[in-house]
Order: sequence, then structure tokens, then C-alpha cells
Amino acid sequence: KPMENRITDIGPRKYDEFYPEVIKKNKGKWSHHEILEPGVLVHVAESGDEIYTVRVGGARLMSTTHINEICEIADKHCDGHLRFTTRNNIEFMVDSKDKVEPLKNDLKSRKFAGGSFKFPIGGTGAGVTNIVHTQGWIHCHTPATDASGTVKATMDELFADFQDQRLPAQLRVSMACCLNMCGAVHCSDIAILGYHRKPPMIDHEYLDKLCEIPLAVSACPTAAIKPAKVTLEDGTEVKSVDVKNERCMFCGNCYTMCPSLPLADTEGDGIVLMAGGKVSNRISDPKFSKVVVAFLPNEMPRWPSMTDAIHKMVNAYSNGANKYERLGDWADRIGWEKFFEVCELDFTHHLIDDFRQQAYMSWRQSTQFKF
Ligand code: SF4
Ligand code: SF4
Repeated sequence: KPMENRITDIGPRKYDEFYPEVIKKNKGKWSHHEILEPGVLVHVAESGDEIYTVRVGGARLMSTTHINEICEIADKHCDGHLRFTTRNNIEFMVDSKDKVEPLKNDLKSRKFAGGSFKFPIGGTGAGVTNIVHTQGWIHCHTPATDASGTVKATMDELFADFQDQRLPAQLRVSMACCLNMCGAVHCSDIAILGYHRKPPMIDHEYLDKLCEIPLAVSACPTAAIKPAKVTLEDGTEVKSVDVKNERCMFCGNCYTMCPSLPLADTEGDGIVLMAGGKVSNRISDPKFSKVVVAFLPNEMPRWPSMTDAIHKMVNAYSNGANKYERLGDWADRIGWEKFFEVCELDFTHHLIDDFRQQAYMSWRQSTQFKF
């Protein structure tokens, strides 16, 4: 028997129950918006109503203490409302201009013990906004690098560009800790990608006890795995698998299916940097990112080689691009040979791929590339 008005914990409640009054009232009737200063926006409705937004950096992984503090700020200034952007920024919204300064001052006053901002204001317009990233060593099983650590090190390097809007256009940075890329790094201005360089190690003794062999075989996108009979050191014959190493692209899909095929490796694992992608179709078509640094080692806890390469790219882009030009558009205009030169990055043979697929524009397909 259907029960009316039942409150359960199955699924979220309908989103429009949570609208601030001014948004409920003016839904679908907004006239325009503008960025008043970095991190502060105003949206104006046809009725003349306004809503002011203060955007602050958020984190993908938050403690309950931190979430409680976010809620406390929303209760104090915004009638309990807040929203998260797709890039995990937190937006506090107020319905009149005189509420903006007290909100900003409160946010600025909240600091960690070391003095850094808990709620840095920024992330709008022609600058860097929060990094979309994956989970890394915190909880996933196939990462080749850490997500939170690399993101923190990168955002510390780019913090001035989060607070300011000095860049020619938006600069979207993403991070995925393995090439399954659940962080969508394939279309970012700058992308950090964790990369394994060795095929899985096979634990023959336990493989047949831990997983279904057909599942492990079918998990491999390159058909590198086949069933095999293996004789253990004590002479026992067991069912296991064989991996054709030259077909392996180190994706870790097999490990997702079978815990007896781990591929984490201290020396083999590290970071690839990609650049020039974007999702937007403004001015030019969307683009995939291209690999620009084939490998950097995992240098915990601050990844200095990675942040140095990113810093050089951002500086060269900032100095060389025209207004509104995204990083990939700038590189296309000056030529990718020049991009490597001005970013002080080495062009190596690792950057030449042999994909024939038209969707993936590679260096080899370009008749213009003159290295
Ligand atoms: Fe896991 Fe890969 Fe996603 Fe990282 S990118 S969280 S390793 S699936
Ligand atoms: Fe296949 Fe990926 Fe496993 Fe290599 S790591 S064997 S490509 S599933």
C-alpha cells in the first residue's frame, strides 16, 4: 500500500525544496550576471531581485568538522543555503549587497593553525578554479599517484591565480590518478595523470582462489590476458593467467577484477602531464588534451618536478596568449614546437603516439609538426 508523505532515507529529496527564496521566486527569469570581483558574482532577475554569490575553494575530501563549519557559515549568513559547483567550489549566496562584506570578512577570518585560509575566495573568470580530481591513495585500488597530495601541491603553486583573474582566459586543471581517468582529465587545459609503467604482477598461488579467471581475462581492453596452467614451486599445477606484456597498457582494469594482479610499483609509477584540452565550444571546438610530459616520478609529498613544469606552462601561457584564448588555442596558434620551447619542456619520442584513430589528434597525424 503506497504511503503518502513518508520520509525515508532512500534517495535524496527533490532539489527544489532546497532553493533559497529568491531563487524559487525568480526561477527561469534571470536577466544577467556579472563578476563583481574575483570570487564574487551577482545574478540579476527580470523582477530586479539580486542574488550575490561568494565562491570559495572546497576540497573533494572533507572532515565532518569541516562540513559542520560550512553549514554553520551557511546558517549564519545565507539562511542555511549553499551550493557546490561541479568543480567542488562552495558557493555561499545572499540576497542583498549589504550582506556580502560581512560574509567575506567571516570567510577570510577562518584560518588553519598554520595561517592558511580555510575558505579562500576566488575561482571565477579568467583564472584558475578548483581542481577536479579523483581519489588517489585515499581509497581507490589502482592509483599510480596520489590525488589529494598532487592537487594540494599544484593549487599552492597556482594560488595567486585562484584569487586573481590575471590570466587570458579560464585555466581548467584536472587530476586523475590512473588512466581510467574518472577525473575527466582528457579535456583540460592542464591535466595531471597518474601512470603505471609496468604490467601486473601475477600471484599464481592465489589467483584462482580470489577471482573468476574469465572475468580477469575479459577485463583487459587490449586482450593481453589469457588463461594458463602454471606449476608452482612445490610442483602443484594451478589454473591461472598469462599476461602478454607487450600488449599491456598498464590500465589496471585487471586488478579491478582480480586482486591477484596488482600493478602498483614504486619506481614504475608516476605522473604524466597533458595540456591543451577543453570542453567548451566557445571561439573554437572542444579539444582533447595532449601528452606534454611523458613521465615524472612520484616525489612525495610536494611533487616539485610536477609543480615546476605546471608553473612554466602557466607562466608561458599567461605571458603569450591573447585575451580569451584558452591554453590549447594559444598552443595551436603559436605552433606546438614553440609551445615546448617557451614552456621549457623537452619534446621526447615518448610523446609521439601511433594511434590511427581520427578522434585522437596526435603529433604524428599532424603534417605541420617539424621536430
Ligand atoms: Fe581510481 Fe583511477 Fe579513478 Fe584514481 S582515476 S580514483 S585510480 S579509477
Ligand atoms: Fe590488460 Fe590493463 Fe591489466 Fe595490462 S593492466 S593486462 S592492459 S587490464
